[in-house]
Amino acid sequence: MRPAYDNAHDDTHDDAYYTAHDDAYDVVVVGARLAGAGTALLLARFGLRVLLVDRGRPGADTLSTHALMRAGVLQLSRWGLLDEVIAAGTPPVRRAVFRYGDGVVPVDVKASYGVHALYAPRRTVLDSIVVNAASTAGVHVRFGITVTDVQRGRGGEVTGVVGRTRDGSDFGARARIVVGADGIRSTMAERVGAPVERAGASVAAITYGYWTGLTTDGYEWNFRADATSGAIPTNDGRVCVFAGASPGRIGRGGMEPLRQIVAASSPDLATRLAAATPPAALRTFTGRPGHLRRSWGPGWALVGDAGYFKDPLTTHGMTDALRDAELLARAIVDVVAGGADECAALAAYQRTRDTLSTTFFELTDIVAGHRWGDGEIRDLLLRVNAAMADEVATLAALPPLPGAGAAHS
Ligand SMILES: Cc1cc2nc3c(=O)[nH]c(=O)nc-3n(C[C@H](O)[C@H](O)[C@H](O)COP(=O)(O)OP(=O)(O)OC[C@H]3O[C@@H](n4cnc5c(N)ncnc54)[C@H](O)[C@@H]3O)c2cc1C
Repeated sequence: MRPAYDNAHDDTHDDAYYTAHDDAYDVVVVGARLAGAGTALLLARFGLRVLLVDRGRPGADTLSTHALMRAGVLQLSRWGLLDEVIAAGTPPVRRAVFRYGDGVVPVDVKASYGVHALYAPRRTVLDSIVVNAASTAGVHVRFGITVTDVQRGRGGEVTGVVGRTRDGSDFGARARIVVGADGIRSTMAERVGAPVERAGASVAAITYGYWTGLTTDGYEWNFRADATSGAIPTNDGRVCVFAGASPGRIGRGGMEPLRQIVAASSPDLATRLAAATPPAALRTFTGRPGHLRRSWGPGWALVGDAGYFKDPLTTHGMTDALRDAELLARAIVDVVAGGADECAALAAYQRTRDTLSTTFFELTDIVAGHRWGDGEIRDLLLRVNAAMADEVATLAALPPLPGAGAAHS
């Protein structure tokens, strides 16, 4: 789905529109996917002047499977975007089936906090919906801009960003606060010198692709002592099937390791996979240890994977991006519109993020390192589930947002 932003420009196709300039905003957000577009959207709804830039192209896919957990769906509902996700043909997920060792445990998705089902929209669908909403809320959206550095004031505080457009022109923008939402290998984190405060020890690799004609009954998660696999129903009648294991076992990825791991972790899924139409190619993530970075300083903040990344095996990065976008947006609004002390507000943002994340981060590191046996994984996943319940309760207790319309019911 290619979005029709009303004020967005892909600088690739519109080189003449932008030349080097140095506009001033309340907030510049670098990175226009879930964390960045979400933050920008909420800031604009609170009335701030926001520039959102991304080096990519509008509506592009990214290296990620896309299972949302309850808190992520709750956020889309609270922001008034869930109906659009559903209207895009994203199938509801009403059950998750866990297979550990010899046990099969189906879990129905219970309705709570107004969330009746989970969803796993393709990133081409979901990221576009959030960027489009940001644009509609008044965010100035610009694709084709690579940010290369920050600008600093006399006291060393961050006052803006510089970079280049895709045609090689210089780019600059000033802002009261600059937000780095530029993903795992964040340039912003590097340029502001944000230290890693907690690092993961585990690295898992994932290979995945999209099958058609594959029958599923919701999310499927299969755990074996040395590998995991799963199935995630998504748009266009497709099912994302993935296999995760040590980088050595996944190697360069592809059909062979995926079929082997699926067969070992769920013969049932392997049989259904054999009867379905496979994709032409698979995508492979070669793994990266988790990090929790310091995520604020004078004039800057980090959100999403830029500040907090954990292994994808617990499928929670998108949900966290939607969660932390709101936590950060509220802190920035308090500073820019409410006159709150910047250090106190941004530090509180990170504190809440870390409180909600630390247990999850540590559990994910154990799951991703496959440091468990068949008898332990169930307990680990129950603890993951408890951490998710705390997160949902925290988000549900936040005040309503301006301009979000009625939450999905
Ligand atoms: C293999 C894999 C599977 C995953 N599966 C799931 C899952 O099932 N469920 C789930 O919840 N999460 C999953 N995740 C995690 C999820 O993809 C991330 O947590 C999420 O995308 C983070 O969003 P973000 O907005 O922080 O960053 P990103 O989505 O990485 O977006 C960053 C953006 O910043 C832009 N950018 C980067 N540098 C610059 C620059 N210098 N200048 C301008 N723009 C820049 C990029 O173009 C990009 O658009 C998975 C991740 C991987 C790798």
